Order: sequence, then C-alpha cells, then structure tokens
Amino acid sequence: MSELTKLTIAEARDRLRAGDVTATELTEACLAEIEKADALGAFVHKTPELALQQAAAADARIQGGAENPMCGIPLGIKDLFCTQGVPSQAASNILEGFKPEYESTVTTQLWQAGAIMLGKLNMDEFAMGSSNETSCYGNAVNPWRRGNEETALTPGGSSGGSASAVAADLCLAATGTDTGGSIRQPAAFTGITGLKPTYGRCSRWGIVAFASSLDQAGPMTKSVRDAAIMLRAMAGHDPKDSTSADIPVPDFEAAITGDIRGKTIGIPKEYRMEGMPAEIEKLWADGADMLRDAGAKIVDISLPHTKYALPTYYVIAPAEASSNLARYDGVRFGHRAKLAQGDGITEMYEKTRAEGFGAEVQRRVMVGTYVLSAGFYDAYYNRARKVRALIKRDFDEAFAGGVDAILTPATPSAAFGLGEMADADPVQMYLNDVFTVTVNLAGLPGISVPTGVDSSGLPLGLQLIGQPWEEGALLNVAQTLEDAAGFVAKPARWW
Ligand code: GLN
Repeated sequence: MSELTKLTIAEARDRLRAGDVTATELTEACLAEIEKADALGAFVHKTPELALQQAAAADARIQGGAENPMCGIPLGIKDLFCTQGVPSQAASNILEGFKPEYESTVTTQLWQAGAIMLGKLNMDEFAMGSSNETSCYGNAVNPWRRGNEETALTPGGSSGGSASAVAADLCLAATGTDTGGSIRQPAAFTGITGLKPTYGRCSRWGIVAFASSLDQAGPMTKSVRDAAIMLRAMAGHDPKDSTSADIPVPDFEAAITGDIRGKTIGIPKEYRMEGMPAEIEKLWADGADMLRDAGAKIVDISLPHTKYALPTYYVIAPAEASSNLARYDGVRFGHRAKLAQGDGITEMYEKTRAEGFGAEVQRRVMVGTYVLSAGFYDAYYNRARKVRALIKRDFDEAFAGGVDAILTPATPSAAFGLGEMADADPVQMYLNDVFTVTVNLAGLPGISVPTGVDSSGLPLGLQLIGQPWEEGALLNVAQTLEDAAGFVAKPARWW
C-alpha cells in the first residue's frame, strides 16, 4: 500500500511545500487505494477525472507559492453536500439521478483553498441513522474488525462512509455533517478525529437539510491538528445561510499550543449512565487523568436536563425533517414513480414518496408530522423546544461557573456488527446518540478523539465539548488528549 495516503493533512502540506511530493502523486495514490477498497462501500460516486484536474491546478498553485494548507489535499465528500454536476443523493433513492447545478458553500471554499475531490461518500439516508445501514447504496463497512473475527462492523453513522474512508487511508480527510452525533460517533467507531463546530460556524447552504436548527458540517480527519486546518477552510460567514454567523474565522491551528495548564475541565455526572460498560468508564477516567497530568483542573459538574436530551432530539429532529423533506415530491428533484391510468397528482406524490424514501426516513416524517399536528403541537414540539432551552442553560451555567471544556465518552459502546440491531426497537439505535445530541441541541462545538481500544481491539473515543465559538481552545485540549493517549493503531487490512 502506498504510504502517501496515510499522511495527515499537516504532513502532506509540509511535503507539498518542500516539493517532496506533488498533489498529482497524492491524488493518484488515493485513487488507487479507492479502487482496491470497494468492499468498504465508502465511496459511492468516484470522480477521478475531476480529481486529477484539480490536482494539476493545485500543483501549479503550489509551484507559484500557494500558502493555503489545504492546497493539494485529496478529500472525500459526504453525499449530503451538493457538488456541481456530480451525483448528490443524500444516499436516498428519491434523489436518484440528481446532479446539482450548484456547489455547496463549504465545498466551494475547500476547492477555492485548492483541495481535491476524490468522490462522494456513503452515509445514512438523509443523515438519519447511526450505522450507515439506511443508505440506498448499501452499507459502508468499518475497516476495523473484532480481534480475528470476520464479522462486518458498522463504521457508525450517519457519516459512515467518511469515517471508513479516512480510517482506511483512502483519502487524507473527509467532510461530515452532524445533527445529533453523525461526525463524532462514526469518528469514535473508526479511530479517527471528528469535529462538530459551533452551530453557525459553517454555512449549511447547499447541504441537503435534515434538521436545520441542528445540522452542522465539520471535518473528519486523522489528527486534531488536521481538524483545525480543515475547519478553517470550511468555516465562515455566508449571506446565503441566514444562520451562519458573521464572526471572524481564527487560525485554529495557531491555537494548538499543547498548554492547558490552569484550564478547568468539567465531568458531568449525568453522563455516567446505568449499565455503561466498564471499558467506557475506564476510558473516561483515564482521559480525565491525562488532562489532570497536563495541568488542567478536573471538576465534577451537573447538567441536570441531560436525561431529557434524547426524547427532545427525537421530537425536534423529525419535526424539522418532516418539513424539510416535503420538497421531495416527484416534481422538482430526482425520482418520480410510474403512474397508473387515472392517477392524479396526489397519487403521484404518494407513490413517489413511498418508493423513494426508506423505512427510517418514512418513520421520521410520520413522527415529525405527528408532533407538529394541530392537536399535539403544544404537547410535543413546543414542550421539546422548552426542554431544549433548559439543556442549553445547563451548559451556559457550567461555562459561567468557570468550566473551559467538558469531557465525556463519545459513544456508549465500540462499533457493533452490521445487522446486529436489525431486530431491535428503533429506540435501541437512537441510544447511540446519548452523549452527542445535547451538544447539537445547545449549538456547541464538540470533538471526538480516539483514546483507546476495547478488549477486542476496537477503537474507542472520548468527546470534548467546548464553549460556543471557542473551537481553538477546544482543539487545544483535544490535542493534549491526543498526545497523552498516543493512539496510533490502524486497522489490519482485509479489503
Ligand atoms: N444518529 C442520529 C440520528 O439518527 C444523528 C444523525 C446525524 O447526526 N445526522 O438522527
């Protein structure tokens, strides 16, 4: 296997600048790895010609002295991002054949920085899921396996293809999106780093909407430093997204000093869930020790409304989704059902939506329309909005009390087997998000850092939650954790 595809963004940047390697060589190495990795189901649309054109342009820019650290870096892009002229299906049959006429703001900024698109990455349909099993393309597979077992494991979801591709070194990094944990959970399941920025840090324009008040794009990378480099290129105010914040984008990499002396790290007692595996407890305690050893003060905190976070999320997210997904009607985008003699427009909508949406998406549309319906709006949707405000207030109070960042587990378990949850109640699957959804409900930045392995050798991650707009400070604590944990394991290659 080519060593080039294993490079971090920071390493590649330095070697590109030194003239040790070209963007074209890096791109060719990634394209070759992608061709050998169909068994991972990560790339669902490949764009080799575009990649090589972009690489040639990046090489010219680098020779001309280009300074942007993303220049010449080959990336995978989650299928949720609209990319001009390239299939962008949100892993749904209803968007079959959809090639946008426009490019999302985040990817536009990445290409302006000189980054290279290798193709589109698998995900759960419309980003609804925690295992990448709701995709119209079929499952993405985790490159990691339990010991010597051959059981295929989930890479997590919804950004499962992104996680699998980065962990298997098919690309240097990938974009993800996170509505309730879809960057952080797959990152934890695959031993990579995933950052969900503060709500409003990255433009949502041109990203297929799931739940607009929760959705954020972010980087999925091989290191904390790479997350800092890539976030800078993705972030920034965009007049086309009214919720994108008009505040400056700092140099996040410069914030990584490795010095966290005197910082206060909160450990929320409500995240100590009943029945939590001992391995996760230990990982969490070890993480706290690492930060303490680096000079931070570890304090116990309380986030009392945590227990309502999952039910709140699973009212608000489906409510917004049901409204956002109303646009897929067989008229404007993608798939339209074949109609029978005498069918009118109502049958056209019904048949198209019944064929185009998978079971999980249909479930969410039904839950969403129910909680928004006239008779139940106050009982469910409005109540959930009130609880959401209380969840946010818990965090505000912790930060006002002097906490700089909060440490929690990223997931309640390591990666599980594909199909293992098939017969379970959907709520079992929703429990995956127990540590991550609070962060979306409160609009905060959160990062998952790989810090250990379980008894079968699967990666486990810890989550750090930061103050709004303080991604730099958050990344600095995350770097300390990465350095102390020294997680360098890679999956054994079987694909
Ligand atoms: N797993 C969560 C869900 O199914 C989160 C998904 C996401 O963050 N996009 O809604």
